[in-house]
Amino acid sequence: MYYIGNHLSASKGFAAMGREAVKLGGNTFAFFTRNPRGGKAKAIDEKDIEKFLAFAKEHEFGKIVAHAPYTMNLCSAKEDIRNFSKEMIADDMKRMEYIPGNYYNFHPGSHTGQGVETGIEYIAQTLNEIITPEQSTTILLETMAGKGSEVGRTFEELRMIYDKVERKDRLRVCFDTCHVNDAGYDLVNDYEGVLAQFDSVLGLDQIAVIHVNDSLNPLGAHKDRHANIGQGTIGYETLHRIVHDDRLTAVPKILETPWLCAEGGDKTE
Ligand code: FE
Ligand code: FE
Ligand code: ZN
Repeated sequence: MYYIGNHLSASKGFAAMGREAVKLGGNTFAFFTRNPRGGKAKAIDEKDIEKFLAFAKEHEFGKIVAHAPYTMNLCSAKEDIRNFSKEMIADDMKRMEYIPGNYYNFHPGSHTGQGVETGIEYIAQTLNEIITPEQSTTILLETMAGKGSEVGRTFEELRMIYDKVERKDRLRVCFDTCHVNDAGYDLVNDYEGVLAQFDSVLGLDQIAVIHVNDSLNPLGAHKDRHANIGQGTIGYETLHRIVHDDRLTAVPKILETPWLCAEGGDKTE
């Protein structure tokens, strides 16, 4: 089975997102668990979730992919931000159980000057505190562009988080093509080499989701600005290659392009 979708607005609820995904030719989608810039999460509407679960079953949806808000930073130098972030992810884990067995993707964090190692220490510590034995949700670490003090710019940094987390079976990776390009991995000229590197550091089977985005910036720019498919520095050919890679067939592919996210878009991409 092949799963593709895009990032949708959660404001109208799960059933509406399911219908929107199908309208766009998709059978999965991504959504923010709460306002991406922060704030309180919407109350859970059990009727809406019931409707969505039936709809998703009928349309053979793949796993759906929640995204944590951008304000969440598990490794900030500021203790109040770390505490607030921990409360947020713990609360999101509880809410995710209403749609059991799906993915929760987050940006590992920005160490804000403390150094990568301290950042990783905080991230792993919080994950160890909030992952419960009962939870059915798998938490995804997103590969990052390395903007500012972002942790997760290299596959090795993600590996270091894994190494410190007790419940590694609840952990996987969201591979963002724009971020990987901006981090300095040359998907265009050395596709097999990059995948081999990922495989040796983390294991290809740890890729749970792919964010399919072109990039506005050149290789290694550490910028993180997404471009529409075929209109960036990665280009159609390489993105087509990863989307149709036989080793990654079952992995849900999520588009986060400006065309679909900001302009409404349609089925084209
Ligand atoms: Fe993201
Ligand atoms: Fe992404
Ligand atoms: Zn991005």
